[in-house]
Amino acid sequence: MKILMKDYQSIRRRMISPANGMPVNWDWLERMEQIAGQELEVETKYLFRDQFNTAPVPGVSEKGFRIMLSDVEAVIDDERYGVKKCEYCGNQQKKGDVCTGCGKGSYLRPLLPEGREELFSPSVAK
Ligand SMILES: [Zn+2]
Repeated sequence: MKILMKDYQSIRRRMISPANGMPVNWDWLERMEQIAGQELEVETKYLFRDQFNTAPVPGVSEKGFRIMLSDVEAVIDDERYGVKKCEYCGNQQKKGDVCTGCGKGSYLRPLLPEGREELFSPSVAK
């Protein structure tokens, strides 16, 4: 699973917009410039609806990045489809209606909202 980062101007525009509601983190923006427009490998151990943990980016970040969906142009080989996440213990699984992590049955929820998955998994226009 990979993400394609938006171009730098798009990321910059979002971050410096007053609508962002957050002080601009210039250090972060500088780091985004280094990975903008690139495909990055996603760590799939912990999956999220609207953000991604990337694998380390050699020469840029040894720990990888936490990237918001709003800075992503496309998700490639999205592994989140069909994944259920337990709201009690955080376990992720594809099969069954009982959590394999905590044994509880009523806390499993689809990671992506059913029928609206595309909202959380943009793809490049063909
Ligand atoms: Zn659980």
